[in-house]
Amino acid sequence: MEILKIDHLGIAVNSIDDGKNFWSGVLGLRFEGSETVETQKVTTAFFPVGDSEVELLESTSPDGPVAKFIEKKGTGFQHVAFRVANIEEALKELKENGIQLIDQQPRIGAGGAKIAFLHPKATGGVLVELCER
Ligand code: ZN
Repeated sequence: MEILKIDHLGIAVNSIDDGKNFWSGVLGLRFEGSETVETQKVTTAFFPVGDSEVELLESTSPDGPVAKFIEKKGTGFQHVAFRVANIEEALKELKENGIQLIDQQPRIGAGGAKIAFLHPKATGGVLVELCER
């Protein structure tokens, strides 16, 4: 598979508004806007950093994946997303290598990107997202 760059770092927060106080207010990152992805019960907010971005994730529901993550591990770093040239090809290669995936097929994430998550059990504990845009 061809990994092009780190697309973004996902950070779980209780509140995007509070998160903005640090990421924009203190660090001076530009807030690019937010988007709710209903299927994932999450609102995302993006802050470009050079060629990559910081993505804040706030759950829209107590039973959403981000709420569950925070319940288990607390707020903070949640996932790293690599931009790949071809996500279908990357998933096929991972499956052939017996890597456990959360998403067998790409789905549509924030910004219309095609995304898929690898299972943290297969990565040494890091939630890894692949994305193609
Ligand atoms: Zn992400």
